Amino acid sequence: MRSPYRVGAARCLSYEPAEVEAALALALERAGGLPSLSGEVLLKANLLAPRAPEEAVTTHPALLGALADLILPGAARVTVADSPGYIFVHQWETLFRQTGLDVLREKGVVLRPLIDDGLVEVAVDGLSLSRARVARLFLESDHVVNVAKLKTHVETEMTGCMKNLFGIADTATRKAAHRSPSLERLAQGVIDLFGIREPDFNVLDAVDSMEGDGPSRGRPVRTGWIFAGANALAVDAVASRLMGYENPWKIPLLAAAAGRGMGPRGREEIDLEGSEWGELAHHGFCRSSPRVRWIPTALRGWAHSLVSLRPELDPSLCTGCSICTRVCPVDALTMKSGKPVIDEASCVRCLCCHEMCPEGAMKVRRNWISRLI
Ligand code: SF4
Ligand code: SF4
Repeated sequence: MRSPYRVGAARCLSYEPAEVEAALALALERAGGLPSLSGEVLLKANLLAPRAPEEAVTTHPALLGALADLILPGAARVTVADSPGYIFVHQWETLFRQTGLDVLREKGVVLRPLIDDGLVEVAVDGLSLSRARVARLFLESDHVVNVAKLKTHVETEMTGCMKNLFGIADTATRKAAHRSPSLERLAQGVIDLFGIREPDFNVLDAVDSMEGDGPSRGRPVRTGWIFAGANALAVDAVASRLMGYENPWKIPLLAAAAGRGMGPRGREEIDLEGSEWGELAHHGFCRSSPRVRWIPTALRGWAHSLVSLRPELDPSLCTGCSICTRVCPVDALTMKSGKPVIDEASCVRCLCCHEMCPEGAMKVRRNWISRLI
């Protein structure tokens, strides 16, 4: 019997449309094929911010276009959408233009904000969240294909298929998940949302990935793979090898999911087609700053305050737009004389301000212990 955790991998060394089409077809075939998708099909992309495709912040339009070409003939409508942050709610056209997605309209693809049809409040049987407000478009589309981007993440270490679904919720729900200073609690919140509706299929854009301080301020790096599979966690586990993880289940989100009986719990459960695990490691990939895994759980709260990364303003880059004050989940930022001031006592070090600052003015500060580790 085939593993339910089958993952297809295909080499892809550029975003030339013909190469992406061929690699995607191969990855899908190796994953067992794209399921039959009809009616309203939502491609849930990663559109974190209005940034150019080559910056590796967002899912590349060449991959979304190649996937749409395969789905369009059997679907009533194919929509590409995301909810990139409340801060860009009035900038949708800018977002679609700068991410290069607007060309997809020529194929007949619909580009929309994920929250265009409003939100539905759902009860969540979760460990972090008990209720969530989720995009109706996500809940009510006939099929959802998760088309994620492989990136580092200063909080959760990695963002791929599972973390991409964090974007289905509204601002308040996401802020609630970020509010705790505990990384474990944030991970449980991501999993709570992921469990609301698992996508029909997953495709991961790792042709160019992001290394360093992702998910928005790292560096693009050509890792050269497309992954596909029915199970998001299995795809993430395989892709984590590109980032140099020997054991994917040391990554907070995958560890927390496995602890809740979700997804594979070891490499032996994954049926990887198209590559060997050893072949995937990308030499020299720069991961985000490590967390102190070796510290006993009972001491983690104390240790977190010592080693966690802190936001730090570079006033020379700050334009005073105040976006950071609006994304902060605990109101730890206030504008004074046109610049944000951090209340260190309130800050839970979620680094949402770093992630969403459009100027890169909110830096990540590491104390000497973090740097040493
Ligand atoms: S730090 Fe960034 S988000 Fe905050 S006010 Fe300055 S430019 Fe805007
Ligand atoms: S100041 Fe920044 S890091 Fe601190 S809680 Fe607010 S958004 Fe998070």
